[in-house]
Amino acid sequence: MAATGRASVRPVERHGAPPRSAARSRSVAPRRPSPSPARPAADHDGDSDSCRVRVSVRLRPKNANDLAHGADFDPCVELQPECKKLKLKKNNWSCETYKFDEVFSENASQKRVYEVVAKPVVESVLEGYNGTVMAYGQTGTGKTYTVGRLGKDDPSERGIMVRALEHIFSCMSLETDTVAISFLQLYLEYVQDLLAPEKINIPIVEDPKTGEVSLPGAAIVEIKDLEHVFQLLQIGEMNRHAANTKMNTESSRSHAILIIHIQRSSRTKGESSTSLPNGAEDMFPNNFPLILKSKLLIVDLAGSERINKSGSEGHMIEEAKFINLSLTSLGKCINALAENSPHIPTRDSKLTRILRDSFGGTARTSLVVTIGPSARHLSETSSTIMFGQRAMKIVNTIRIKEEVDYESLYKKVEREVDHLTSEIERQQKLNYTEKMQLERKLKESEASLNDLKVTTNMQIENLETEKHQLESASKRLMLDLDKEKGKNNILSEQIIHLETVLRENKQQQIENISNTNILADTTKSHEKKIRELQRQLEEERFQSASMKDLLNVLQQQLSDARNSVKENMDCELKRQLSRTTEEFASQVRCLEEKISELVSENELVYEELKSTQEKIQQEMMHKQVLENEILRLKQSSAGNCTEESKGLCGMVRSGSGLGNVPLMSKSGKSRETLSNQRGTISKIFEEVGLPNVLALLKSEELEVQIHAVKVVANLAAEDINQERIVQEGGLEALLSFLETSENTTIHRVTAGAIANLAMNGSNQGLIMNKGGARLLANIASKTDDPQTLRMVAGALANLCGNEKLHVMLKQDGGIKALLGMFRTGHNEVIAQIARGMANFAKCESRVISQGHRKGRSLLIEDGVLNWMMANSSAFSASTRRHIELAFCHLAQNEDNARDIIITGGIKELLRISRESSRDDTRNLARKALNSNTAFLKEIQ
Ligand code: ADP
Ligand code: MG
Repeated sequence: MAATGRASVRPVERHGAPPRSAARSRSVAPRRPSPSPARPAADHDGDSDSCRVRVSVRLRPKNANDLAHGADFDPCVELQPECKKLKLKKNNWSCETYKFDEVFSENASQKRVYEVVAKPVVESVLEGYNGTVMAYGQTGTGKTYTVGRLGKDDPSERGIMVRALEHIFSCMSLETDTVAISFLQLYLEYVQDLLAPEKINIPIVEDPKTGEVSLPGAAIVEIKDLEHVFQLLQIGEMNRHAANTKMNTESSRSHAILIIHIQRSSRTKGESSTSLPNGAEDMFPNNFPLILKSKLLIVDLAGSERINKSGSEGHMIEEAKFINLSLTSLGKCINALAENSPHIPTRDSKLTRILRDSFGGTARTSLVVTIGPSARHLSETSSTIMFGQRAMKIVNTIRIKEEVDYESLYKKVEREVDHLTSEIERQQKLNYTEKMQLERKLKESEASLNDLKVTTNMQIENLETEKHQLESASKRLMLDLDKEKGKNNILSEQIIHLETVLRENKQQQIENISNTNILADTTKSHEKKIRELQRQLEEERFQSASMKDLLNVLQQQLSDARNSVKENMDCELKRQLSRTTEEFASQVRCLEEKISELVSENELVYEELKSTQEKIQQEMMHKQVLENEILRLKQSSAGNCTEESKGLCGMVRSGSGLGNVPLMSKSGKSRETLSNQRGTISKIFEEVGLPNVLALLKSEELEVQIHAVKVVANLAAEDINQERIVQEGGLEALLSFLETSENTTIHRVTAGAIANLAMNGSNQGLIMNKGGARLLANIASKTDDPQTLRMVAGALANLCGNEKLHVMLKQDGGIKALLGMFRTGHNEVIAQIARGMANFAKCESRVISQGHRKGRSLLIEDGVLNWMMANSSAFSASTRRHIELAFCHLAQNEDNARDIIITGGIKELLRISRESSRDDTRNLARKALNSNTAFLKEIQ
């Protein structure tokens, strides 16, 4: 209990509060109960947190006892309920009027008493404040009736305890709020638990810091419904030690205390001023559980009458002393509080300790004082009224208390901690697994990175090598390109030149054709003339014969006449005969001269005809060569080596130089003429048939053979016929001529025919297989006729252009024969030899560069290098070019290097690289010099 007007007081003890609870209190102006019929005028003292102790007075109706003492009956009180006043008659002449917060007459219902006395306190308790409702009065005045009546069967009888709990139940949520009760009795300064009667001396504990009072030993039973309340209160009542007194056998000498513990959880941090310990706010930033803990004390005090009047004795007197101790102490405290005394003797009794918060504390307190109507108890009634009057002066400072619900908070935190712990463990496990996986992956990655590094390094090295190779290749290609460009330029120039030449040749050809026609006409006229002369000669011969006959006749006649006219006519006749004979002889001489003239003229004409024909043939061949050259150059300009090779092969058309090969002209009138000629030949050829022509080759007559060979040679100049001739057996016939014939013309023309057939790739193999090279070599060794040798050389040169036949060609003595023909010193023969060498070297170089063959050139053994050294700077430009080309191709093969060096070829290569008329040849020489280390060494 505290002095009135104190700003704050220590809270009352809290029974059963969790030990770890840390509550902070705040003072709040409580909501005024409404309606509040007993509200006194002096309610407000200006302090909104202050709340005066409410005091009502209730008059018990008369009971049987009162009526039994009817003589004594003289009501000592007069009630003025409407004025909330009570008039106490002290004696017949004086009375005193007292004002209370409410005055209940004997007719006042339990319900109204509850609503006025207890309901405002209960409402306050439901809001979180502590409250006290207490009944004070003499034994038998109806304290227990007012406070503790159960009214189980008659609800109108129910006292404040039952109604308060009914009220609380109606306002609370059983899901979030709890209601629990402790039921105690204070008897002889022992605190006994009415719900656990074995606990007979429950200690009162005060928190040394807060001063809060609690009874930790008392049972706190949570209740759910009214039935349970009845049950517990009945149990409590049964356990209540009741002592009989004279005045009222039902009354108890003990104080009964019902503590209703209310716990409501409805507020959150945002609504509250309560602060949390460090860390808790972080954990529950927006919402943490707050609870309102309040308690309502409903106290049914023991009778306030003095002990001597109770009629007690023996230990009963002792009991009464103890009863009085608590009550006297309460009275003293009330007095002290009412008088604003600096000392409140709260600690003098257990009752005042328990009620510490109810008077001068923080609780809302309502006191009902009960009085009896009998004048016999005037003094008790008077003291009761005075007690009430003094209590009315006490002003409490009610204060709300809210706590953080650490229990549920704890549980929540614990749940959270458990959850987080398991989460952490799971996370740790995951992290460990992940770590292991990552480490494994890292190792794998490192390994693959190393592999990658190695591979990359290798690739870089390879790429570097490739890059170098490509660079050198590109350099080479650039060089080649330059060469090709140069070559192309030269070729272009040559083409232009050759086209000019061709044009000129065509012109010449046209002229030749017309010459041919003229010659043919001349020939024809000459032939006619010859025939005429022969006929004349025959006639002359006939005349001469007849003249001879006539002469004989005349000689006979002369002899006869001589005989007859011997003597006289002798002289005359002799003279006449002599004259006739002379005339005749001169005629014969004249005729003979004429014949001889005609014969010689005829021979001249033949000769002329033949030479013209040969000339025409040569022109034709020349034209063909030029055409082939143009074709070759065009192909070469397209940059195709193989084509050039073919072009080289095609050169033999000029080399073969056979007969009147009908050639196709490319423009104008001459084309038409040639086409006609060719058509005529084709027509004849078709009419006669190739088998018949070939059959003529086997004719017995040489002339026929020669003419047949010429026809075949001419046919063989045409690509279209080359294969057919071979298929029909022409090749065998021609080769047999080479083998068996002794005739040089046959040799020459046959070699030409074979040269023509050797232009065809598939024929080349057949020619070789049938010993053609050997036969040609044989012919070459036997004759010195340049034309024959030219044909033979042309044929061998063509065969040189087939790399597959090189070995056989060498073995059959083809190379040796080719070189051997050099002895003629004839330009055209040498040109063919040079062409053959170039063909051979070029094809061989290609085969070697492609890796199909290795080793020294097949040409070297036969002394080709020496031949080349000796002749590279001689002869025509074309021949020189071929020799240079052949030499450069040989120089490309490293296996030839030694021989080339020995024969002084480096000088030659250097010369070619500087002086050759052709760019490509020069480049080829440079390439050989630059790429061959042996050459480079030699140069240094
Ligand atoms: P106390 O507890 O003060 O000793 P009780 O409550 O036991 O007194 O009352 C004594 C008797 O009077 C009881 O029988 C009770 O029923 C009766 N009584 C008390 N007050 C009233 C009342 N207001 N109306 C009817 N009966 C009453
Ligand atoms: Mg009682």
